[in-house]
Amino acid sequence: MVDVSAGALRKLIRDVPDYPKPGILFKDIMPLLADPAGLEMVVEALAAPWRDEGIQAVAGIEARGFILAAPVALALDAGFIAVRKAGKLPGTILSETYSLEYGTDTVEIQGDALEPDQRVLVIDDVLATGGTAAATARLIRSTGADLVGFGFLLELGFLGGRALLDDPIEVAVPGDEVPSSESGGH
Ligand code: AMP
Repeated sequence: MVDVSAGALRKLIRDVPDYPKPGILFKDIMPLLADPAGLEMVVEALAAPWRDEGIQAVAGIEARGFILAAPVALALDAGFIAVRKAGKLPGTILSETYSLEYGTDTVEIQGDALEPDQRVLVIDDVLATGGTAAATARLIRSTGADLVGFGFLLELGFLGGRALLDDPIEVAVPGDEVPSSESGGH
């Protein structure tokens, strides 16, 4: 296992101004994922806080959450489930809609993805306004599964997203992020 250093991880995250629209400071994690030691460190940093929590399923939020959640699931001897945007999953689905600055968005899981009382960890790359994670929490609870907590690579703390989340939150690369004039860089 490599030594986890938030400073080393932070250097591998690229700030991209005005992407995908003006006023957004986009946190580009691709350089981190492309770096073998960085990838190993971030998976370890996301998994470590939950090792004694009996996690049975790790839910990754589309799309960058998928990349992180699958290796975290392997590290925790858990399974992976996909939290997708509307219309991407076959079969019976459960949906939750949430508000964006303009309009709404929807997250979905398959109806048979989780069992009652299954212990679930939710993983995503960035906690911004918290709307996506809060809708994911409602989705998971609606199955009767036990939501244990959330793991994020980064938190845009100035957007106050954690106020929407009732369960424990762990951030792999803690620290102050630079505010952007607008929220949300989906
Ligand atoms: P939110 O619902 O506002 O917390 O937004 C969370 C989702 O949007 C996550 O899945 C992130 O991937 C993405 N996101 C929001 N803001 C940013 C940003 N500044 N940089 C990169 N991704 C972002």
